[in-house]
Amino acid sequence: MNFLYRLQESYNRFMYGRYGGDTLNHFLSGVYIVLVLIGFVLRILVAITHSMVLYNIRYALYIISLLIFAVTVFRSLSKNLARRARENEVFMRWWGNWQPYFHKQAEKAKPKMRMMVRKMQDSDHVYKKCPDCKAVLRLAKKRGKHQTRCPACGKRFQVHIWFGDK
Ligand SMILES: [Zn+2]
Repeated sequence: MNFLYRLQESYNRFMYGRYGGDTLNHFLSGVYIVLVLIGFVLRILVAITHSMVLYNIRYALYIISLLIFAVTVFRSLSKNLARRARENEVFMRWWGNWQPYFHKQAEKAKPKMRMMVRKMQDSDHVYKKCPDCKAVLRLAKKRGKHQTRCPACGKRFQVHIWFGDK
């Protein structure tokens, strides 16, 4: 028997009769990772700004992430399988209620994302909204103040382009 096999064996023996992973635990692990990443960013910001507020937020997030980690470990090692399964069921119901909302938000964000990509690729033009009808105008990137006319509603207005060629 090699070492890894024995390790797997003893792990299986240890986990026997214990709850292990479920959707709720996966979700909690995801939240934990996100909090750790935010904490990492906050740590840099605190080092730069010496802000007490950011320091306290970081500290609070750290405590919350530890609690989430403890709950996740506790749940996966728990031998009260019925109770853990019930928790997961409640979570799945809650998550199921939120899913249409997240889906809708993602659908809403799609055109914005597409527009952002288009703007980034099109470095010779700027995109300005018509103040009247909110149509998006594509204008040559020429620095300065220009008169323009909205092709959709005919409104004349002034645009100020800060960056670009003279
Ligand atoms: Zn217009």
